[in-house]
Amino acid sequence: SELLLEAKNLRKYFPIKKGFFGRSSSYVKAVDDISLEVKKGETLGLVGESGCGKSTTGRLLIRLLDATDGEIYYKGDNILDYRPKELRKVRQRFQMIFQDPYSSMNPRMTVGDIIEEPLINFKINEKVERKKRVTELLDVVGLGNHAINRFPHEFSGGQRQRIGIARALALNPELIIADEPVSALDVSIQSQVLNLLKDIQKEFDLTYVFISHDLSVVDHLCDRIAVMYLGKIVEVSDKKKLFNDSLHPYSKALLSAVPNADPKVKKERIILSGDVPSPSNPPKGCAFHPRCPDAMDICKVSVPEQIERDDGRLVACHLYN
Ligand code: SF4
Ligand code: MG
Repeated sequence: SELLLEAKNLRKYFPIKKGFFGRSSSYVKAVDDISLEVKKGETLGLVGESGCGKSTTGRLLIRLLDATDGEIYYKGDNILDYRPKELRKVRQRFQMIFQDPYSSMNPRMTVGDIIEEPLINFKINEKVERKKRVTELLDVVGLGNHAINRFPHEFSGGQRQRIGIARALALNPELIIADEPVSALDVSIQSQVLNLLKDIQKEFDLTYVFISHDLSVVDHLCDRIAVMYLGKIVEVSDKKKLFNDSLHPYSKALLSAVPNADPKVKKERIILSGDVPSPSNPPKGCAFHPRCPDAMDICKVSVPEQIERDDGRLVACHLYN
């Protein structure tokens, strides 16, 4: 299907400050040479342990954060070349939903004002129409009009996430980056919010990049999944194949920890030895090699290239070269 975004060789290096006079010579390679396609209408999961670069990748994709290097194509343009005026276009079309919507809401603003704010920022509609739109949006997210004059602290976590979703929808976005949007919620509330996300995706033709460390949540929502480890994408696969028969040893270990719905499928839990190394000093060669049960000599010296398999899956591992 049609591409919405195509990221090529994206990098985000954060300098590490060294002493008072020292110029920085080392970097945290939060995102290190990743290439990724986002297809129109899909939900692409971005998974991995905390600190692997998922959130940074999500922010880079919509230019909430500027990449150190790389290209991101949207409708034929490299959005990394956009000047402030063109960037506004992106700001309107690409929105973000956060894990804790409350922290991104002004507690002194009413819910109605919070949802209306993006419309004001982009000078969309007159006041009367904006109010109508806010009412519509509250309805879409299942909150009802009585929320309009109340304050965010009067709502539960799940309701606040609905307010965050309404605000993200205000400008009619094409793409929503959802960064752990249900991780802070009780499991019973999680599925309600996930179902809402599914419903509005259909209703408004949305594309999602869904960032999560929780594979059961990802399973619920995603079509394709990209697995990240230490700032790199190690595997991209459609969801079914990843859950049933993942290729990369890191994906296998991650997936082995997810309880299987089908009791006939026997899975052995793969326990990885060692901790995730620091992204400021990643291991040479394949960054996963110190923990990989299948590591070979070549893995210690050579970074595996991402290859495309016949079935369209992408994997970066010497086992498949
Ligand atoms: Fe393991 Fe080597 Fe593959 Fe890395 S490249 S995941 S170390 S087998
Ligand atoms: Mg994160």
